[in-house]
Amino acid sequence: MNGIGALDQRPTGPRLLLVRYLPGLVGETARLVHVCPAPRTAESIPEVLTAYCSERFEREDVELLEGMSGMPCTWCLLRSP
Ligand SMILES: [Zn+2]
Repeated sequence: MNGIGALDQRPTGPRLLLVRYLPGLVGETARLVHVCPAPRTAESIPEVLTAYCSERFEREDVELLEGMSGMPCTWCLLRSP
């Protein structure tokens, strides 16, 4: 579970963002931590993020996490590089 942060230090490839729905938008059991690739060149966070599990998120609906915490999305973990 600690691998994501290390992966993000790679000089190439997409930046990996850890996102989770903000509290209150969904039930606590649906607040999985998803991994979304973002262009490394982008200045800011894209308005719509697509996770490796194909789930799409509006930027305003999610919080960005510094590290993996809580319950990770299994599909995102399996599919992320
Ligand atoms: Zn996911």
